[in-house]
Amino acid sequence: MKFGGTSVGKPERMRQVSELITKDADPKIVVLSALSGTTNSLVEIGNSIAAGEREQAKKQIEKLEAHYQEFIKELVKEEKYYTKAKAILTEHFEFLTIILRISFSEALSKDILAQGELLSTKLFSTYLEEKKIDHVLLPALEFMSIDAYDEPQVSSIKTKLNQLLKKHKGQTLFITQGYICRNAKGEVDNLKRGGSDYTASLVAAAINAAVCEIWTDIDGMHNNDPRMVKKTVAIEQLSFEEAAELAYFGAKILHPASIWPAQHYKVPVKLLNTMEPDARGTLITEEAGSVGVKAVAAKDGILAINIKSSRMLLAYGFLRKIFEVFEKYRTSIDMITTSEVAVSVTIENTPQLKEIIKELEPFGTIEVEYDHTIVAIVGNEIAETKEVLSKLFASLTPVPVRMVSYGGSKHNVSVLVPSSFKTQTLQLLNKGLFGLE
Ligand code: ADP
Ligand code: ASP
Ligand code: MG
Repeated sequence: MKFGGTSVGKPERMRQVSELITKDADPKIVVLSALSGTTNSLVEIGNSIAAGEREQAKKQIEKLEAHYQEFIKELVKEEKYYTKAKAILTEHFEFLTIILRISFSEALSKDILAQGELLSTKLFSTYLEEKKIDHVLLPALEFMSIDAYDEPQVSSIKTKLNQLLKKHKGQTLFITQGYICRNAKGEVDNLKRGGSDYTASLVAAAINAAVCEIWTDIDGMHNNDPRMVKKTVAIEQLSFEEAAELAYFGAKILHPASIWPAQHYKVPVKLLNTMEPDARGTLITEEAGSVGVKAVAAKDGILAINIKSSRMLLAYGFLRKIFEVFEKYRTSIDMITTSEVAVSVTIENTPQLKEIIKELEPFGTIEVEYDHTIVAIVGNEIAETKEVLSKLFASLTPVPVRMVSYGGSKHNVSVLVPSSFKTQTLQLLNKGLFGLE
C-alpha cells in the first residue's frame, strides 16, 4: 500500500492511513511519500543553497520546521511520543542546518531531498507506536538502489528486501520510504519526482505481492486531467499497457515508469482514494476490460526536431544513423513521422540538445521547435474502433496540430501541439471523444 503526499499531509490523514492499513491482518508493506509540499520546499532549499543564498535557505528551513512542529503537536498526544517526535525533527532539521555550512554538491542536494520521506515515515512510525500498532520500519536506503543509468536494480532490490523481511519473521506490518534510494556510487539518490509510486511497484514486484495499492487524493485514473478539464470521470479498469502509456504521457497520478515492475511480475495495481476509501477506484491488470478510447493525457516540455535532406530520397540506413545519435545521448524518442525527404522526431528537452543537433547536422537541414506538448489518446484496440480518428480530428479543428502518430500500437494515438494549446486540446477532446463538457 502506497500513500502519497496528501494522504499523509495532515495529522488526521495519518490517522486515516493507520486505519486503512490495519483493516485486515494481511501482511503488508506500506510505502509513504513525504508530507504534501515538503519535497517542493526541499527543492527550493536546495536551489537557494546552490545559488549561494544561504540566508534565504535558512529562512526556508525554519519555515518548514515550524510546519512540522505544528504537525507533531496534533499527531501524538502522550509526552513520551511527543518527545520522540521532537527528537526526530531535531535530527533532520539539524542535518539541514549543517548542510548550510558545507559546500554545495549534486550529492548533497539529493541528501536534502531525502529528508521528506525519512521524516514522514519516522513520524508515522512514532504515531503507530503510540497507538500500540506493532510494525517494523524498513529503511529504503538498505534495499532500494539504482544503477549508473538511474535504472532500478531489480534483482538486487529483490534479494536485499527479502533478506530484510526474513530478519523480522512473524511481523506482518512494514513501513518504508518511497522515492529514496542509493545510486551506483552508494550515495543517497531518488527515483525522480513522484517516485514513491515507482517504489511501491518495485516493492510489490520484489515480494510478488498479491496487489499493489496506490492510495492518493482522487478516486482512480480519470479519463482526462482533472486539473485542466472540469468534468472528468474515473476509469474502472485499465490494462497494464494502457496505464503505462497514460503514466508515461503525463497522467500525474502515476510516476511515468511505475507500471512496468508490476506488469512484469503480474501484480495487479489498484488506484484508490484515501479520502474516499469505499470508492471503486481503478483496477490495472493484464485485462483491458473494454474496447475503445479510455483517457487522454498530456506531456509537456517536448521539442520537435526536423531533419530534411534530399539524400534521404530512396536511401536506406538513413534512419539508423539518426537514431544512433539519440542512442548515444541516451535520449528516447517519443514520436516520429517521416516523408521521403524529411523526418521529424520528438524528444523531451535535454541539456544535451546542443550536442545532439551538432551530430545531426551532417545529415541535412535541422530545425528545432520548442515548447510543444504530446497529447496521447489511450485505450484498447482504438485503432480498430470506429470513428475515433474522425472524432479526434473534428474536435481538433481549432488546434494547429504539428505531428500525428497513429498505428504504432493498438492503444495509442498521439498528437503534438504547441504547449499554449494544451488546455484547449484537452477540453476539446473531453467533449469530442467522451461527450463530457
Ligand atoms: P500523490 O501525492 O498521492 O502521489 P499526485 O498529486 O502525485 O498524488 O497524483 C494525484 C493527482 O494527479 C490528482 O490529484 C490529479 O490532480 C492528478 N491527475 C492528473 N491526471 C490525472 C488523471 N488522468 N487521473 C487522475 N488524476 C490525475
Ligand atoms: N515526495 C516525492 C515527490 O514529491 C515523491 C512522491 O511523492 O512520490 O516527488
Ligand atoms: Mg504522486
